[in-house]
Amino acid sequence: MNKQIIDKNICKATKNNELYHLMEELYPICRSITGDGVRKTLKILKQRINLKIIEVPSGTKVFDWKVPLEWNIQDAYVKNLKGEKIIDFKKSNLHILNYSKPVSKKISKNELKLHLHTIPEKPNSIPYVTSYYKKEWGFCTKHNQLKSINDDFYQVKIDSTLKKGNLTYGEFFKKGKSSDEILISTYVCHPSLCNDNLSGIVISAKIAEILSKINTFFSYRFLFIPETIGAITWLSKNEKKISRIKNCLVITCAGDSGKFTYKKTKSGNETIDEIFKKVFKNSNKKTMIKEFFPYGSDERQFSSPGINIPTGVFMRTPYYEFQQYHTADDNLDFVKSSSLNDSLSMIFKIITEFETKKQVKDKSEIQRNSKSKNVFLNINPKCEPQLGKRKIYREISKRRLTGKKNSQDLSEIAIFWVLNFSDGNYSLEDISKKSGLSIKLLKKTSKILVEKKLLKKLS
Ligand code: ZN
Repeated sequence: MNKQIIDKNICKATKNNELYHLMEELYPICRSITGDGVRKTLKILKQRINLKIIEVPSGTKVFDWKVPLEWNIQDAYVKNLKGEKIIDFKKSNLHILNYSKPVSKKISKNELKLHLHTIPEKPNSIPYVTSYYKKEWGFCTKHNQLKSINDDFYQVKIDSTLKKGNLTYGEFFKKGKSSDEILISTYVCHPSLCNDNLSGIVISAKIAEILSKINTFFSYRFLFIPETIGAITWLSKNEKKISRIKNCLVITCAGDSGKFTYKKTKSGNETIDEIFKKVFKNSNKKTMIKEFFPYGSDERQFSSPGINIPTGVFMRTPYYEFQQYHTADDNLDFVKSSSLNDSLSMIFKIITEFETKKQVKDKSEIQRNSKSKNVFLNINPKCEPQLGKRKIYREISKRRLTGKKNSQDLSEIAIFWVLNFSDGNYSLEDISKKSGLSIKLLKKTSKILVEKKLLKKLS
């Protein structure tokens, strides 16, 4: 690996604010888990790296899921009786409930309010809300705007399409001397949101671009995929490649000025964990290492019991923890060019360490204590099962796993813990210790999952 070439490229990117400029170019695009927004985004990346763009038809079965219909949107608004647009998709693509079905009608004030999503605790922020698997329509707006919705009727229009099409993702492969691979994964499905999403895209694309110019020991695979369904799709189509992937890094929320954060792999005891610990210790930056938890981003698919790729996450302020998370305030002002550049340098320190080591140890497996009770086996272990279709997970995602958690949040979190750790080795007591959730809640959760035929009791 040629360190001088890497340094020269990082220096040039930093001097020219390349990452930030690419983010500015990608910011206006309305992305979702399918559709032209993802294609446009990947086409822009293809100008920089030799990205393979793959289309997977709607309806394709991918483990427990099906690739959904493709969603595209041209325009959307709510007009008052004077004909003024009071909510306008063209002003912010976050105003639309992502994946809204088409609608065009005059409705009463009260009916309109049933379709408006706001955050009462953040009255001046437009939330980011999605409804991928439940056919719905809606708008997202500032909670403070509700006070001014006083006309008797409103005209609503959503010019969208939900049709058979494709799920699109991008893949870049850099062949190294060894066939052992390091996977770098980021998602491409969020609309105009900078830290949570675009930061991961621009940093990953730059790493790929720089690695393509040098010789490496490891092979590096990069995925630019829609979150959750994209990871599930890729894994289901590429099961044979999984054993070559030794460690994986998910990059997200890496452009704010918070401290460098690393979320450990499930075992917490893999080569990538050791490398992050060493590199963070030797850096003069503020850093934080977090234990694994089985929700967040695609680490939960890669770490599911039937896939089991040791996966860590690189972030600045972790998802869920910054005020602007999943709101229109996660914008170009919130992300700093210098933070993107520092994150890029930090990840290259990690890659350099992998290249120096030239070896990734075998995954660490825990052995079941034969005396433990309350041990379950996930019988749908490859990625997470589609919980929405089984009516055990809310279908409209507000992703409010931030701050104080209510009982619905806790029961959803418990589902993730039980499914992810029920590989036959961890007992509910072990899961309780790791998660801090009560045995009572975990027992209740496993009972539901057994009834839904997602889990079976071993002892
Ligand atoms: Zn997100």
